[in-house]
Amino acid sequence: MSTIKRCTIIGGGVAGSAAAIALRKIAGIRHVRIIDSVPEVSDPHVGAGFVLQPTALTVLDRLDLLQKTATTCGTPITRLWGVNHNSSTVLDLRYEDM
Ligand SMILES: Cc1cc2nc3c(=O)[nH]c(=O)nc-3n(C[C@H](O)[C@H](O)[C@H](O)COP(=O)(O)OP(=O)(O)OC[C@H]3O[C@@H](n4cnc5c(N)ncnc54)[C@H](O)[C@@H]3O)c2cc1C
Repeated sequence: MSTIKRCTIIGGGVAGSAAAIALRKIAGIRHVRIIDSVPEVSDPHVGAGFVLQPTALTVLDRLDLLQKTATTCGTPITRLWGVNHNSSTVLDLRYEDM
């Protein structure tokens, strides 16, 4: 456990939010404050989908959030397939091949 009692994080994106949770849960710092230049996340164009790769899944697991995330809002992805306006495949990534 850290001897630091209070901490302020500038920026509440995924890195800042994850750091805040880690400082509380893992380092045991009770007073963690996040300051962001935007007052709230309100852009309706943000949040259509978020692909979590193994590194992010590992961080969520360390924060004890993986199970909750997977059961409340996650869907396992086995393939990323993208087509352009001509219906030509521009991306075809199959995770079982990796
Ligand atoms: C369209 C798009 C789709 C993406 N899709 C994915 C995906 O599916 N999966 C994935 O893993 N990654 C994805 N990414 C990348 C991912 O969004 C970034 O890697 C991630 O957001 C970086 O997190 P961060 O916390 O470092 O920075 P940010 O998310 O950019 O957060 C930084 C925060 O700091 C705040 N800030 C900045 N300057 C100041 C200041 N001076 N004072 C106070 N606050 C400040 C900002 O307002 C912001 O909230 C995508 C990115 C884009 C643009």
